[in-house]
Amino acid sequence: MANGRGMGRQTGGRMGGKGLGPSGECVCPGCGYRMPHARGSPCYSQKCPKCGANMTR
Ligand SMILES: [Zn+2]
Repeated sequence: MANGRGMGRQTGGRMGGKGLGPSGECVCPGCGYRMPHARGSPCYSQKCPKCGANMTR
């Protein structure tokens, strides 16, 4: 149609929101402790403050 430019990727997709996504938490496999992690930092680079195990999810 005439309005071909309106279909761009300007809409941010799913970037909106307040951080309540499913990927916002890491879980300790050892003791089950959960903690939020900053996005950009993978869980396995964090350590559990309780038992010192590497976090996972
Ligand atoms: Zn732990």
